[in-house]
Amino acid sequence: MLFDVQPKTSIDELFGRRAEYLSFLDAIEKRRNFFIITGPRRIGKTSFLYAALNELEQEYGIPYAVIDARAATSLNSKYPQRIIAERLYKAISRKGFVGGVISRIKGIRISGIEVELQEKGFDIVDVLSAINEGNELAVIAFDEAQYLRFSNEDLTKLFAWVLDSLHNIVLVFTGSQVGVLENFLRLDEGDSPLFGRYEVRISLPRFNPSESLEFLRRGFEEYGIDVNERELLPVVNTLDGVPGWLVHYGAHRIDGLTNEEAIEKVLEKAMKYVQTEFEELDKLSPRYRVVVRAIAWLSEGRGYARWERIKGLVEEELEEKIDEKAMRGYLSKLMDYGFVETIGYGKYRIPDPVMYRVFRR
Ligand code: ADP
Repeated sequence: MLFDVQPKTSIDELFGRRAEYLSFLDAIEKRRNFFIITGPRRIGKTSFLYAALNELEQEYGIPYAVIDARAATSLNSKYPQRIIAERLYKAISRKGFVGGVISRIKGIRISGIEVELQEKGFDIVDVLSAINEGNELAVIAFDEAQYLRFSNEDLTKLFAWVLDSLHNIVLVFTGSQVGVLENFLRLDEGDSPLFGRYEVRISLPRFNPSESLEFLRRGFEEYGIDVNERELLPVVNTLDGVPGWLVHYGAHRIDGLTNEEAIEKVLEKAMKYVQTEFEELDKLSPRYRVVVRAIAWLSEGRGYARWERIKGLVEEELEEKIDEKAMRGYLSKLMDYGFVETIGYGKYRIPDPVMYRVFRR
C-alpha cells in the first residue's frame, strides 16, 4: 500500500524509480562493485534499497545484507566493526548466503592493508572473506553511511580492501547528507584508501508535481477513495514531491482527517523531525540556525537567496561582522548536510519544503 508509513520492501510497492532500478541492475550486470545512492531525507532511499535488493535476490539469486549505519554507530559509536560483523554474520545464516562455519584467519595482512582482528566475537575480515568465498555475488549495503564517520576505525581502508580483493562482493552506500558522506569516503583525495575507485552514483530526486498527484491518487484508490485532484494541489505544492511527507498526509486522510487537518498534522510532525535533525549542527554552533533562517526569509516562495544578502542579514541578527571565510564555511557545512543547496553562483535555497517553513516561523 502506497500510504504505508514503513519503508517499502518490494519493487511492486514502489512508486516510480523504474529508471533508477534499471540503472542499478545494469551496473550490477556489468559487475560494478561500488555504488552510492543519494537523495534528501524521506525521499525513499531505504525503500529503493530494499526493493531493489529483494528483486535482485528473488530474480537473480543474489543475496544481500543491509546494515543501518546509524544503528551500528549508536550501538558502538567508536568501534562499529564488531557490530557490522555481527550483522553480516546474521545475514550469512539467512537463506541465500553461504551457511556453515567460518574459518578463522588470524593475523591477516592483505594487499599491505592491516586489518585489526578482534580476540572475541565475529571478525569482520573472516565474515567478509566467507561471504566472498561462498557466493558468486553478494551485496552489502550501508544505509545512511555518513554515520560511519564517527568510527575510530578507518573503515575506508576496509572498504578499499573489499573492492580490490573480494570480487564477489558489491558495496552500496546510501546517504542523505551527501557532502558529509563524501567527506567520509574521500574519493577524490590522493592519499585516501578509496581514491580512484570507480563508483556508480544513483540519485533519487523528488517527485515532480504530476508524479506527486498520481502518487496520491493511486494511494487513495487503493482504499477505494475517489478524491478531487484539485483539492490535492495545495498538498502537492506544500509537500513538494517528498514521498515521506506525502505518505504521512495520505495516512492521516485515511484515518479520517480533513484535507486541511491532514496537511497541518504532517507539517506539525515534520517540523519536530526537522528540529531534531538540525540538532547535530546546533551542537557545533548556534550560527547555523541563524544562517538557515536568513536564507528562509530571503527566499520568498522557496526561490533563492543571494550570498551578499544572506551575509548582511546574518550580521544584522548577530550584531557583528562575519568574515567571508567563516560565512563560506557555514554555507558549505549546511550544504554537506543537505539542509541548503546552491542553484548557481552565490544563490542558495532550502530544498526541503518543511525545513523552509520551520525556519520562516
Ligand atoms: P529515506 O530512506 O530516504 O529517508 P524512506 O525509504 O524511509 O526514505 O521513505 C520514507 C517514506 O516514504 C516511507 O513511508 C516510504 O514507504 C515512502 N516512500 C518513499 N519512496 C517511495 C516510493 N518510491 N514509493 C512508495 N513509497 C515511498
